[in-house]
Amino acid sequence: MQKKALIVGTGLGGLTTALRLSRNGYKVEMVEKYKQAGGRLNQLVKDGFTFDLAPSFFSMSYEFKEFVDYCGIEMPFKFIELDPLYSVNFAGSERNYLIYKDIAKLANEFKGIEPDFEAKMTKFLKKAGRLFHDTEGKVIRKNFNSLPQFLATLATVPMRHAPMMLRSMWSELNRHFSSYEVKVIFSLVAFFLGATPFDTPAIYSLLTYTELVHDGYHNVEGGMYQIVVGMLKELEKANINITYHTEIVGFEDKEGELAALIDQNGKRWEADIFVINSDAAYFRGKVFNRKQFSNEKLDKQKWTLAPFTMYLGVKGKIDKMAHHNYYLRNNFEEYAGKVFKNSISLQQPYYYVNASSKSNPTTAPEGHENLFVLCPVPDLRYKPDWNDREQLADDIMTDLSERVGFDIKGNLVTKTIIDPIDWQNMFNLYKGSGLGLAHDLNQIGAFRPKNTDEVFENVFYVGSSTVPGTGLPMAVISSKLATEQIVKRYGTIR
Ligand SMILES: Cc1cc2nc3c(=O)[nH]c(=O)nc-3n(C[C@H](O)[C@H](O)[C@H](O)COP(=O)(O)OP(=O)(O)OC[C@H]3O[C@@H](n4cnc5c(N)ncnc54)[C@H](O)[C@@H]3O)c2cc1C
Repeated sequence: MQKKALIVGTGLGGLTTALRLSRNGYKVEMVEKYKQAGGRLNQLVKDGFTFDLAPSFFSMSYEFKEFVDYCGIEMPFKFIELDPLYSVNFAGSERNYLIYKDIAKLANEFKGIEPDFEAKMTKFLKKAGRLFHDTEGKVIRKNFNSLPQFLATLATVPMRHAPMMLRSMWSELNRHFSSYEVKVIFSLVAFFLGATPFDTPAIYSLLTYTELVHDGYHNVEGGMYQIVVGMLKELEKANINITYHTEIVGFEDKEGELAALIDQNGKRWEADIFVINSDAAYFRGKVFNRKQFSNEKLDKQKWTLAPFTMYLGVKGKIDKMAHHNYYLRNNFEEYAGKVFKNSISLQQPYYYVNASSKSNPTTAPEGHENLFVLCPVPDLRYKPDWNDREQLADDIMTDLSERVGFDIKGNLVTKTIIDPIDWQNMFNLYKGSGLGLAHDLNQIGAFRPKNTDEVFENVFYVGSSTVPGTGLPMAVISSKLATEQIVKRYGTIR
């Protein structure tokens, strides 16, 4: 008999699981707390501008290819490789470093800054590349049903990579490069994991290999939300219905299985199988009342930085800006060490700006720019009060105006701020953490909340805080891993 799966949440992990399960013959239905699909991969349409809410690029495009091949569908959106990948400016300097994949062009950017850059970078990338290829298939794209199985797999990773587990990303960069600028720029990938290079293991320098050599960064034609628009068309073809404004807050169990989930209006949602795309740690504590996932326990875990985001529509074109831009300062070590715990003033922030209208003109009216500003800030454990949000927004706009030589405030058409409290409330992100649980060695693989439930046989998890981790390609891999677990238990009629 056809099994019915209910998926809670329409983030990328939920959407891709829905299509994979449908392909396996399951009847799928989805519920979503927010007003529209996509989770963090969302969209804000305002005053003639179309803003992507959070992700502005993705790497590892081949994970989407694996997904569409699995589902037997065409790629539901078009993506374009970015070149240069991004630009970086340090406060007080006119210089903008452009980060190219082409190593000779990249070396030219660091002429006079880092002696022998090309040779040093080639060596750094070779090492990171070896690690990537030695671990990707073994560790990232695999389900681990027990700790011994995970540890046994780790033991098969060549020993030469072991020191990279023990030192930090920053000390790895220190071993290869001498200039402040190069070390800071190529350690920014740590922030994609929601941490700093000082507390991120050196193994994650493999991300520099993925960005510079392996697959680069990709933007989506028409804006990142076209990924969701494309997925929704496929969902419609597969007869998968989504009910919005529906938050799951309770449950009913029967003989060791989950019988139904209950929404905020008391409505029961029945199914044979339940897939939770809400944060895997938060949901277990908040909805299933599991003691090991209580707020007290979760507060002791390491969470990724919270986002403070702004969506600015600006009249006029800003020439001194690329598609992706990082605006940094000259106290990186002090900043990175303190920002998580709110012990540094946010008056001089580090931030990132995505000028999406540079590659996607349809996202802003003609002659305007569409700017998405992301400033990583402490989560709500460390900074629960956001009454000062207008001040931070103002400080960033003033700083940005100076750096790009364009009066942003004077030409502002529209401005929206989303602070960590909003992020928490919109998508149930624990304490406003933007990327979910961090990726320290004791929070990955078998140490991360599992994609199978500890109590209910018919409950599974997908998304950032379960395996393998955060980011759009990881959400797609997560759907593959969750689907494997479901099919292993309940079979397929493919
Ligand atoms: C500011 C920011 C920038 C980012 N930039 C990038 C980037 O450039 N590139 C990249 O690859 N990644 C980026 N990421 C990370 C990326 O957005 C996430 O890793 C990915 O979108 C997470 O997808 P997910 O499936 O885990 O779940 P989510 O997107 O979190 O979706 C979960 C869904 O479940 C719903 N939900 C939660 N609880 C309930 C409930 N109880 N009942 C019903 N529904 C519920 C939520 O409303 C949400 O829609 C960024 C994230 C942030 C916050």
